[in-house]
Amino acid sequence: MTLPDAFAAAATDTDPGMDAGSGAAQEVLRRVFGYDSFRGDQREIVEHVVAGGDALVLMPTGGGKSLCYQVPALVRPGVGVVISPLIALMQNQVDALSALGVRAGFLNSTQFPDERRAVEAQFVAGELDLLYLAPERLRLESTAQLFDRGKVGLFAIDEAHCVSQWGHDFRPDYLALSMLHERWPDVPRIALTATATAKTSDEIVQRLDLGNARRFVASFDRPNIQYRIEPKNKPDRQLLDFIRTEHAGDAGIVYCLSRNSVEKTAAFLTENGVSAVPYHAGLDNRTRAENQTRFLREDGLIVVATIAFGMGIDKPDVRFVAHLDLPKSVEGYYQETGRAGRDGQPSTAWMVYGLNDVVQQRKMIDSSEGDAAHRRQLQLHLDAMLALCETVSCRRVQLLNYFGQHEQQPCGNCDTCLNPAESWDGTVPAQKLLSTVLRLKRERGQSFGAGHIVDILLGKKNPKVLQHDHHELKVFGIGTDLRDIEWRGVVRQLLAGGLLAVHGDYGVLTLTDASNEVLFEGRQVLLRRERERPTKPARAAKAGKAAAAAEMAPADVPVFEKLREWRAATSKEQGVPAYVVFHDATLREIAARKPTSLAELGTVTGVGENKLAKYGEGVLEVLGAE
Ligand code: ADP
Ligand code: ZN
Repeated sequence: MTLPDAFAAAATDTDPGMDAGSGAAQEVLRRVFGYDSFRGDQREIVEHVVAGGDALVLMPTGGGKSLCYQVPALVRPGVGVVISPLIALMQNQVDALSALGVRAGFLNSTQFPDERRAVEAQFVAGELDLLYLAPERLRLESTAQLFDRGKVGLFAIDEAHCVSQWGHDFRPDYLALSMLHERWPDVPRIALTATATAKTSDEIVQRLDLGNARRFVASFDRPNIQYRIEPKNKPDRQLLDFIRTEHAGDAGIVYCLSRNSVEKTAAFLTENGVSAVPYHAGLDNRTRAENQTRFLREDGLIVVATIAFGMGIDKPDVRFVAHLDLPKSVEGYYQETGRAGRDGQPSTAWMVYGLNDVVQQRKMIDSSEGDAAHRRQLQLHLDAMLALCETVSCRRVQLLNYFGQHEQQPCGNCDTCLNPAESWDGTVPAQKLLSTVLRLKRERGQSFGAGHIVDILLGKKNPKVLQHDHHELKVFGIGTDLRDIEWRGVVRQLLAGGLLAVHGDYGVLTLTDASNEVLFEGRQVLLRRERERPTKPARAAKAGKAAAAAEMAPADVPVFEKLREWRAATSKEQGVPAYVVFHDATLREIAARKPTSLAELGTVTGVGENKLAKYGEGVLEVLGAE
C-alpha cells in the first residue's frame, strides 16, 4: 500500500464525519507535502470538499489553490479528476506530485494510444490518486465510460474562468463541464480560478451549475508584488536597465504584443549578456516546448513571450514580470503579473506604456471581428486598463477596487506610493490640442494622427505640414511651451480619460462629448507630470536575488549556495525543475537551522515523507561537509 492509500484508508475506515476528514487532511498535509498548517481558507475548503460538498474557490495566483483539491483527492476514496486546459504543463504537474509520492497521471491529445491506455488501466484499477484531463476529452463518450468503470472521488475544475465569455481565456470545451454534475451528481466538484471579477464568477456559477456550491473568496492582494508603470521611451533599453539594476540573475517573464517584438527583444537581451529565450505561437512545437522546459528547469532564465505563455506556469520563483506593451484588460494584467512571486518573496510587476499603445489597441478594437457590443466590451476593458496606468493614487488600491475588493489604505509598495506622482493643471494645453483637432475638422474637413497634430502645435515646418498648408492655421506654433514628449503625454492622457478619441488604421484623433466640455464649458484637466527618467523606488532594491540572500544571516549564505548547487545537480540528474526538488524557501530554512538528523530535517517546511526518504541523506551530506 502506498503512502496516500494509507490515508485514504484511514479516512474511510472511521466515520466519514468532519473530524475524521479534518484529521486525515492535516495528516496528508504534513506527511505528503511537509507543511505544518493550512493557509487562509484552505482548511475550510478541504474539509468542505472531503465531506462531499461542492465549492467555488476564488484565490489569487500563489494563494495555494492546488492543495485545495489535491488534499481532498488523497483523503477521499477514489481518484481526483482534475480538468485543466494546461496540456503542456500536465507532465510537470505529474512530476511534481510524483516527487511527493503521490500517484498521478494525465490524459490528453499529446499521448500515444498505448500511453493513454496504460493510464486508463491504472485509473480503473484504482492505482491513481489524481488524474489530469484535458477538457476536450470530456466530449468523448469513452471518457464517460472510463469514469464509470473506475471510481471518481472528486472533480476539480482548474482555471474555471475559461468557461466565461466575459473573460479573455474562453474555451468552448469548458461548456461541456456542466455534464459532470448531470451524470455524476454524487461526486463533489471544486471549481478554482484566480480571475476575480464578480461578472466572471457569476458566469462560472451559472454555466457550471454551481448555484449550491459554497463560495470561498480570498483577498486578491499580492502584497509581495511591487507594481510599477513607467512612460515608454526606449523600451528595450529601459528593460535592460531594469533587469540589470534590480533583477540580475533572476528568472522573469517579459510580455510583448507581437511575435516580432518577442523575437527582437529576446535577441537584444541575449546580445547584452542576459539569458533569454523567446516563446510565441509562431515557433514550432518543439522549440516552444524546449524553451518552456528550460524556463521551468533552469535558475534565472528569462522568457520573452506573447500572452500565449504562462497560464498555469507554477514556477514559484519568477522574480519579475515585465510588460513592454499594454495588456488588453486589467484582468489580463493582473493574471500575467500574478505569475511573479508565487513563493511570497519580493517581486516586481514592471511595465512601460506610451501613446502608441493606446493608438494600437484602439486600432485593434476597431478592426476586431464581432459586433458593436463586442467592441464596446473590448473598449471598456481597455478604458479600465488605461485608468490604472494613469492613476495618480495607489495602483494596488485601484486594482483591488476593480475586482470589487474595497481597499482604501495606500499600499506603500507601488510606484505611486513610493514616488507620489505630481499632477499639474493641463487645461490650457488640452484646449490648445483639442482646438487644433477641431479647426482641422471644421476649416479643412481633415483628421490627423497625434504625431502631426503635435508638429502643428510645435510649429514644425516639415514636408507634411507644408504640403497641407498647415503652417497657415491659427493654431500653428501655439504649443512651443511644451516639448514633443510632453505633448505626447498630454495626448495619451486625454485619450485615456476619454477627452479625446482615436480611430481607424491611421490612428486619427477626433473629439468626444467630453472634449467639448474642456473646450467650451471650462472643464478642468488635471494631468500627471511625466518624469523623463523615473526615479527608482527606494524599496525596489529589495527585490531580487541579493534581497533573498540579504534576509539570511551572512553566515548561512554559503550553506544556502551549497544547497542550491546540490539541488541543481540533483534536479538535472532526475530531469525535473529545481523547485520540484525543494523550493528556495525550504533550502533557506535548512541553511538557517542546519539539521543534524533525518528526523530534524523532516520538520522543515516543505520536507514531506517522500522527499525526506529521497533527498534526506544527500542534504545531510551537504550540511556535514560544511
Ligand atoms: P495557486 O495554484 O493558487 O497559484 P499553488 O497551489 O501553486 O498556488 O501554491 C503556491 C505556493 O504556495 C506553492 O509553492 C505551494 O507549495 C505553497 N503552499 C500552498 N499551500 C501551502 C501551505 N499550507 N503551507 C506552505 N506552503 C503552501
Ligand atoms: Zn500603492
